[in-house]
Amino acid sequence: MTVPAAIGRVLPTMNQDGSRNWIRPKPADGAWWHRRRIVAYALMVVFFAIPHIRINGMPAIMLDLPQRHFTILGTTFLPTDTLLLMLLLASAVVSIFLFSALFGRVWCGWACPQTVYMEFIFRPIERLIEGGRSGSLILDKNRSHFHWRRLLKYGVYLVIALFLAHTFLAYFVGVDALERWVRLSPYDHPTPFLVVAATTALIFFDFTYFREQTCLIACPYGRWQSALLDNESLIVTYDAKRGEPRQHGVKNRPASAGDCVACNACVITCPTGIDIRNGLQMECIHCTQCIDACDAIMDQVGKPRGLIRYASLDQLAGKPRHLLRPRVILYPAALLLLLGGFAFALETKAKADVMILRSQAEPFTVEQDGRVANQIRVKIANRSLRDHEYAISILGADSAQVIAPESPLAVKAGDQRTTSVFVLLPASAFSGGRRDIKVRITDGVDYADELPFNLLGPTRSAKSP
Ligand code: SF4
Ligand code: SF4
Repeated sequence: MTVPAAIGRVLPTMNQDGSRNWIRPKPADGAWWHRRRIVAYALMVVFFAIPHIRINGMPAIMLDLPQRHFTILGTTFLPTDTLLLMLLLASAVVSIFLFSALFGRVWCGWACPQTVYMEFIFRPIERLIEGGRSGSLILDKNRSHFHWRRLLKYGVYLVIALFLAHTFLAYFVGVDALERWVRLSPYDHPTPFLVVAATTALIFFDFTYFREQTCLIACPYGRWQSALLDNESLIVTYDAKRGEPRQHGVKNRPASAGDCVACNACVITCPTGIDIRNGLQMECIHCTQCIDACDAIMDQVGKPRGLIRYASLDQLAGKPRHLLRPRVILYPAALLLLLGGFAFALETKAKADVMILRSQAEPFTVEQDGRVANQIRVKIANRSLRDHEYAISILGADSAQVIAPESPLAVKAGDQRTTSVFVLLPASAFSGGRRDIKVRITDGVDYADELPFNLLGPTRSAKSP
């Protein structure tokens, strides 16, 4: 079947006939590449180390979804900490806005896991096994044909994907549980096994097949950039004033020719396959590879470096820099407010959450001796960083017999437990079927509170419940 040719610009990963254009960028070994490599490997070490680091006896980051306990740098957020989590999330979003306004897509090019692992793990392995950017060690270029080098590459990719998936899962279940599960049969823990299998498959698919299309198609961040950037934002950009009109070759250049020698080195090195000389594009992840590639060419042809460089659009147009502009003032102000609110809420948050609940069965029972028994359920969430024992007592009912089998109640840091307390009172202690009391909870150190509660009993007219 003949496919009609696309009209106008298509994705760099797609040929005019709709087939996949496989991009194999040539690495540009320059100063920016070295800086990015240091940052990338440092980020990998941090990612692998975090699940093993413990602060106050807890993992540095642990996102326990089933329990809805989120531990971040020694602080545990419970479901009741919605305000704190929202402030943290809003601070992260405003930080992204601020960084984008100042430094463009610095996240995409320097810190996004997609870029970091693709450019500094998966592509180098591919070049090592298959030979250079053209896969010169494999003569048959048809990707669907068998070649032991391709098989070896996929095998290595699978091992790395498995490792990444296990590390990722450790953020949600902790390394101890993960180590236990790894030693057991999948039949003993089918859900985590399926989660790891699915995550591994997703990582493998992403870095083997989908690749840069994640940035071009799946990630929304590139589409936001026109809203997040302004003319003063620092971006990787081509100096068209200096480079144009581009003229192929070095010899016999007319005096009117720009500095661009039309060597295409900036295109060949681009991991998203674009030509930066076409201006700011959604596909540009600001990875700086074209800066290094062009600087090397400028060195060869004896021209100053920086034809492609970090600059703002206003800088390129020769306009003076304005560091202070509305979004660079408003974003930090908003960030300050959010972080201030977060710090205040964190500092003043109660060291425990206590809920007093009525018995799920009968509201009260009448004992053989005529006394009325109420069962009170006390749920305590320890929001502090230390284990505590909570004493439970009843105020406002001196004649009551209180049976509290688990007082004091031991609750581990960040954990929560529920216990029952039984209060027995003579029927005469109730007025209109109610008796107001207070339940006092204290850990003797950080937390003490008295919570009102209504005991229920028979009304005067009733003889029994
Ligand atoms: S145009 Fe340059 S900075 Fe942008 S993605 Fe391509 S190589 Fe990276
Ligand atoms: S690498 Fe530099 S000189 Fe070569 S085509 Fe790109 S911009 Fe022009």
